[in-house]
Order: sequence, then structure tokens, then C-alpha cells
Amino acid sequence: EKAQALASRTADHLRSPVICILGHVDTGKTKILDRIRRTNVQDGEAGGITQQIGATYFPIDAVKKEATKLAEGRQLDYNVPSLLIIDTPGHESFTNLRSRGSSLCDIAILVVDILHGLEPQTKESIGLLKARKTPFIVALNKIDRIYDWDAQPHNCPTRDSIAKQPRHAREEFMRRVRDAQLEFAEIGFNTELYWENEDPRKTVSLVPTSAISGEGIPDLLMLLLALPQKLLTDRLMFNPLLEATVLEVKVIEGLGTTIDVILTGGTIREGDTIMVVGLDGPIVSTIRALLTPHPMKEMRVKGQYLHHKEIKAAQGIKISAEGMEKAVAGTQLMVVQDPTSEVEMEYCRDEVMKDFQTILTDVDKS
Ligand code: GDP
Repeated sequence: EKAQALASRTADHLRSPVICILGHVDTGKTKILDRIRRTNVQDGEAGGITQQIGATYFPIDAVKKEATKLAEGRQLDYNVPSLLIIDTPGHESFTNLRSRGSSLCDIAILVVDILHGLEPQTKESIGLLKARKTPFIVALNKIDRIYDWDAQPHNCPTRDSIAKQPRHAREEFMRRVRDAQLEFAEIGFNTELYWENEDPRKTVSLVPTSAISGEGIPDLLMLLLALPQKLLTDRLMFNPLLEATVLEVKVIEGLGTTIDVILTGGTIREGDTIMVVGLDGPIVSTIRALLTPHPMKEMRVKGQYLHHKEIKAAQGIKISAEGMEKAVAGTQLMVVQDPTSEVEMEYCRDEVMKDFQTILTDVDKS
């Protein structure tokens, strides 16, 4: 009851979960992201899916349309504003990105090629997920490559597709799933096909997918929504404290050196005094412009940024500010409320440099 009361009180204040895609090279990470992006574009409408700085923003209605193809999806509360998926699949983005020592990502999609099973980088990714305590789901991708698989078009839910397969393809599929489960068990993880998973807290869900046909994409989106509701409500409550991570440091014509930031907590404003980790120590500056890409334009098109007075979490943003040349990606950004207060400045300096230390330590370890 208490949990329910809390849930209803906070439902309006949940932020978007930040999602990372990781796994071994060539398992289909990029293709899955592309497929999710193109989901609504097929109907001639983008459905509000927009590429932000460093992340793609999937408004809840676009996700809902897919997720409600499934009975489980029709029972969910759609109480997050959107899903925010980090655009650079691959594990570098995950290794370095953190805010205050924990992972920037709320949920991860670990992609495994169903024909290859667990590969070296899969295991490496799992190690990182474990260390960061990040909940994840496994996309068992490339099911369309199973011998004689009859790929179903238009983002078909997995179970509907399985029901349409010839018997030997279905048996081969089940064999592959069991093999993957054994490999996961060997490294200490219980896994189940998600529709047989009774306890997502203890058991990792497997989602068979094809990034080519779109089979299993509705299932994947449904799970990305279900998981936060089961596991992450606390973490996703809108946090008034600023939490922001620098994704990239980039020179942009006409703007100079800018930083791309994922804002996961709080509100950031033009004119704010910020502090970031620099190669030679903390950098203090003032936000000259808060930018997001123009909604309908590719973000690679130059000079197409929208200016904002303030932006609320969670979002990907570009910040233009003086002196960002030596900013370090993968570290946190802080806003200094009162730059005249030496106490606060000192506190912020300590905080951002702690991040720098953990990155140095990680570099030493690898
Ligand atoms: P990444 O390195 O993990 O990002 O992998 P990519 O997304 O670049 O995919 C690697 C290759 O596998 C590409 O040639 C893709 O077209 C192909 N691929 C990805 N997903 C699927 C899938 O579900 N089915 C099939 N048949 N091919 C796929």
C-alpha cells in the first residue's frame, strides 16, 4: 500500500530512463537502435522520435504504440515521459560514463547473437553491468538467421512469430536459447525467456529479436518500460538536484568548443555557473547557450540548434561555454549555485575531481 501511494504520488515526477546498448562487436547493436528509431517512421510520421545530443528521445506514445501489441504491454502504466537511448552503442560509452560514481545508464540492453552465444566482449559487458549494478535485458538477436526461419514483417511480437515457424526452426530456436542459458549460468546468471520470467529481480529476461525484420522489437520496448516500473521507481523519481554527465567535447563551427551532456537530474539554465573536470584541474565557466538539435533535422546538419532558457531532466543537450577545450568526457558536470561562496566552490572542486580520480583508477586497472 505504501509503495502504491508512493507510486501514485510520484508518477507525474518520474524522469525518462536512460538506456545503453552494449555487447560484442557485430551482434547488431547499431541495427537494433536503427530499427527502434525507424519504428514509427514507416507510417510516414516520425511519432516524435528525435535524435538529441548523444541520445535518441522516444516519446511515450511512440513506445506505447509498439508495446501495446502485447497483452503485457496493455497492462503497464505509462508513467515515464519517454525513453532516452544513448546513441553510441558499444562499451566505451558505458565504461566511462558515470555520474557520481554510479552508471549514467538506468537500464542496459545486452545484445547477443543467438548463433554465436556469449563472446569475449559480451562477458566484459556483463562484468561492467555487474560492477555498476545496472539492471539489463538480453536481446538474443538475429533469430531470422536460424535455419529455415520464416521472418515475420512489421515488428512482429516474438511469440506470434515463433508460432508461425516450421517445427524444426522452432526446435532449433529452443536449442539455441537453452545453449545461451547454459552459458549465462556458467558465469552466474539465471536467465529465462522473458514471458517465462517470474522474478525480474533475480532472473535476467531474454528477448529474441531480429533487427532486420523487427521481430521482437515491440517486446523489447515493452520490457524497457516494464523494468523501471518493477525496479527503478526510486531512481527515476524526478530529482531536483542537478545530475549531468559530459558525453563528448566537440568543436562546432560558430560555437567553438562545446560539451555534449546528458542531464539525468534537475534543471539547468542559460547563464548558470558550471564546473567540469579538466585535464589540468576543475574548469569553471558560464553557460552561454543551451542547445538541442532542431527537431526535424539530422543532428549532423550545421547550425541547426534550438536555444533554450532552461532544460529539465532527462535530456541530451549541447552546452556552449568558454574554456571547454580541456574538459574530460565521461565525468560529471556541476552547477555552482553561488560562485561567490568559496565554501561551495571548494565543495564542487572536490566533487568533480573525485570523478577524475575514479577515471584515472579505471585506466590504471585496464
Ligand atoms: P554492432 O557492431 O553490434 O553495432 O553490429 P551492427 O548493427 O553493425 O550489425 C553487424 C552486422 O549484422 C550488419 O551487417 C547487420 O546488418 C547485421 N545484423 C544486425 N542485426 C541483424 C539481425 O537481426 N539479423 C540479421 N540477419 N543480420 C543482422
